[in-house]
Amino acid sequence: MATYSPLFDLSHRSPTTRDIANTIKEGGLAALTQARQLADEARYQEVQCRSALNRVDGMPFSWTLNPYRGCTHGCHYCFARRYHTQFEMNAGDEFASVILVKKNLAEVLARELDRPSWTRALVAVGTATDPYQPIEGRYRLTRSSLALLARGRTPAGIITKGPMVVRDRDVLADLTRAARCTVYVSVPTVDEEAWDTLEPGTAPPLQRLRAVRELVDAGINAGVLMAPIVPGFTTSRSKIERTIKTIADHGARFVGCSVMHLQDGTRDHFMNFIRRDFPAMLPKYERLYAQKHPPAAYRREVQAMVRVLQDRYGLSRREDPPGAAAPADPPAEPEQAAFAW
Ligand code: SF4
Repeated sequence: MATYSPLFDLSHRSPTTRDIANTIKEGGLAALTQARQLADEARYQEVQCRSALNRVDGMPFSWTLNPYRGCTHGCHYCFARRYHTQFEMNAGDEFASVILVKKNLAEVLARELDRPSWTRALVAVGTATDPYQPIEGRYRLTRSSLALLARGRTPAGIITKGPMVVRDRDVLADLTRAARCTVYVSVPTVDEEAWDTLEPGTAPPLQRLRAVRELVDAGINAGVLMAPIVPGFTTSRSKIERTIKTIADHGARFVGCSVMHLQDGTRDHFMNFIRRDFPAMLPKYERLYAQKHPPAAYRREVQAMVRVLQDRYGLSRREDPPGAAAPADPPAEPEQAAFAW
């Protein structure tokens, strides 16, 4: 029988994410002997992070901050699913049920923000996992991080599907005064059936939009990302129009959209979900997603429809969001005319 290094018995300090990956590689999830199952049945493993701010290239921001890895919201299309494989876990059920919690995040972030070399560049919060997934109610790592960013006069953009964001209105208002802050609430659709099918662990869309209203009323720059729009589930003109009208009715400062893309582990998970639950849609999906992005013509068609409706309901175009999924200049792809979705 294999023996596993007693990583978690040596001290009261949490392991690092690398320790976790090595442990799972050797012993599978059963080796996470300290991961606790809490009320939502997910297992939460506290870890020590070495850095809080992560440098990124090719995005409208240079730094990201993610208090958690994995997300119990469990959206089937989530592009972050594939990142879970970095920790030797799968992009399917384990992404939504084994969550790493960066317990020392605030301490590390405070040190990083105090460095004389820190330039107060824009930080995108929640690019790889939702910073207001339910466990934030217990650990408050996102709240602590935002308070530190305000203290350090560092601007931030926050992306979330969690209405819990309204809890932190006070800190977001401080951050707005100290630097700059934009909250991007993700509401791909207000269609309840599509929501229930695609985003099993999230709050209902109208609850998220009420959060937008409360943030705006508190003087915070908050808007909506219809991200992603999912072919065949949320792309009909009537669903898009109903969504945009409802977003406008809730006072969003702006709206943006992107069409779903599929890559690596996310692609495998999503295609398995379609194969299992919507087999009749599979041939169309295989055509539409022959590459990572659907064909440029298809995306242009969806985005043009959104733009027309945005103008009709008087909504500004989106600001540069954290985690913008679709590139402005689509890669060379075969055109695909007359796609029925
Ligand atoms: S809420 Fe965001 S991070 Fe969480 S599963 Fe859904 S898309 Fe992914």
